[in-house]
Amino acid sequence: MSTNAAFPPYEMTDDSGNIVGIDAEIAAAIAEKLGLELEILDMDFDGALAAPQSGKSDIVMAGVTVNEERQLVLDFTETYANGVQKVIVPEGSDITSIEDMQGKKIGTQRGTTGYIYCSDTPENGGYGEDAVTGYEDGATAVQALMNGQADCVVIDNAPAQEYVKANPGLKILDTEFANEDYAIGVAKGNTALQDALNTALAELQADGTIQSIIDKYIPAEAE
Ligand code: GLN
Repeated sequence: MSTNAAFPPYEMTDDSGNIVGIDAEIAAAIAEKLGLELEILDMDFDGALAAPQSGKSDIVMAGVTVNEERQLVLDFTETYANGVQKVIVPEGSDITSIEDMQGKKIGTQRGTTGYIYCSDTPENGGYGEDAVTGYEDGATAVQALMNGQADCVVIDNAPAQEYVKANPGLKILDTEFANEDYAIGVAKGNTALQDALNTALAELQADGTIQSIIDKYIPAEAE
């Protein structure tokens, strides 16, 4: 499994250096069902996406959003989670909606859908390539926000929550930038693996395993 372990709570490194998180645990449960040994390779997000096609990994699991461009080089399983692109700003920022992002320095993670949407032309709902920086990973993008190099960061909701929790002085705008589906990617044409993964996923969904893994990392908000 190729991944980018800077995307909590889907994948991150614990104090002992192990890669943990929702994707790591779902992958472990799938591997157990299929009688396979799970090996997790940490790399940048672009590399993780390219790895199945080049044979460096068998699957990519990295909170990967299914989109048409990626479907040209990867085949995807059924969806196992949903993601929403959100905007992180410093408390007191004059950015209060996605319209206010016009003319601002936007931070994203390189190669992600957040980068793809924001760097698109204004006619297509983006802000133009010059407005957007693709940082190495989510942690680096948030660091740039903290030290004022970026005015806002567009990233998936679950890691946004984690980064805001870990860095006082940041908040998440209410507005949603985009709604997405996460799935596991395999090399184009590897239908044997895709089918096996879908069967395992369906079983793990039916017996509640996937939901309990997600609930463990994303506790339902207290009312
Ligand atoms: N869901 C986003 C995407 O697929 C971000 C994933 C990530 O940064 N790991 O582009």
